[in-house]
Amino acid sequence: MLGKALLWASSNPLLAQRLPRYAFVKRATRRFLAGETLDEALNEAARLADSSITGTTTLLGEDLESEEEADAVLEHYLGALTSINERGLDVEISVKPTQLGLDFSVDRTQERIVRLVEASANPVWIDMEGSGRVDATLDIYRSVLAKRSDAGLCLQSYLHRTKADLETLLPLDPSIRLVKGAYNEPASVAFSKKGEVDQNFVCLTKMLLSARASGGKGRPVIGSHDPRMVGETTRLAYELNLKKGNYEFAMLYGIDRAQQGRLARGRHKIRVLLSYGPAWFPWYMRRLAERPANVLFVLKQLIR
Ligand SMILES: Cc1cc2nc3c(=O)[nH]c(=O)nc-3n(C[C@H](O)[C@H](O)[C@H](O)COP(=O)(O)OP(=O)(O)OC[C@H]3O[C@@H](n4cnc5c(N)ncnc54)[C@H](O)[C@@H]3O)c2cc1C
Repeated sequence: MLGKALLWASSNPLLAQRLPRYAFVKRATRRFLAGETLDEALNEAARLADSSITGTTTLLGEDLESEEEADAVLEHYLGALTSINERGLDVEISVKPTQLGLDFSVDRTQERIVRLVEASANPVWIDMEGSGRVDATLDIYRSVLAKRSDAGLCLQSYLHRTKADLETLLPLDPSIRLVKGAYNEPASVAFSKKGEVDQNFVCLTKMLLSARASGGKGRPVIGSHDPRMVGETTRLAYELNLKKGNYEFAMLYGIDRAQQGRLARGRHKIRVLLSYGPAWFPWYMRRLAERPANVLFVLKQLIR
């Protein structure tokens, strides 16, 4: 119930406008938000690099109203790529297709993402959004991959279709970041029981690691904080005789820092997603909806 209320809040424009203005709300969000600006996110990435944790950055923002806004996001990311280069950081960017105009034009979104992959020294990642956008996102990814073979895509284990999607992608040597999925999807398209989502996650992890073990060039990136998923991944990698450098973990900034540190100290590759930007409210509500315990954490921060 709390999760549903938070998902509702995440799409409420009035709350999105009012709440972020309060300094105490900003303070409470510091744990999961790398900052409001790119510079703040890159400062955090530089700090994490000292603990052998690399970074991915993403500009928060959703529901664009015009193509011009998508062009502005493109310009922002082109500037971000320059800053990352100048600072010599091992930081990749991950972009949301809707933020680059997917709801207006698939072709123009593809052009914008191609401009980014061509401008970037490091691989560029494409996020996966709601189920209605999967087909268009896969089409875009295929054309981007034809231009830059190191481009990556996020796939979600809660969707029934993902296994079939991965089967068609694997011959292209894709870099895949596997996650469970963060949107509120109907039972017609997504598994509703956690056990089923997890089981599918392990099955997809096995497909990704096996592809890599048999000579595939794409990066398998396991995007989960779930200790069981992390454990299954290392177990499967061991079974497949896959060395630590051949697969990676990815987690969100601020979530289970202890586990992130443990993996880095154990010489696993781990990359943390640092989100930043003024439009953080809907994103932050979704993070809280994922795990009600986070709400308690925020309340404690507010009381303090
Ligand atoms: C790098 C990265 C990129 C992502 N990109 C996308 C994307 O493009 N599209 C998309 O739909 N989703 C994306 N997600 C979100 C993802 O789909 C999940 O919603 C999110 O990762 C929670 O699922 P989980 O597998 O981590 O753990 P869950 O199955 O939700 O939880 C399992 C356990 O993990 C731990 N845990 C999980 N969440 C938290 C938390 N918030 N705080 C503390 N502990 C926690 C707890 O121990 C919990 O019991 C991304 C996630 C990551 C890490």
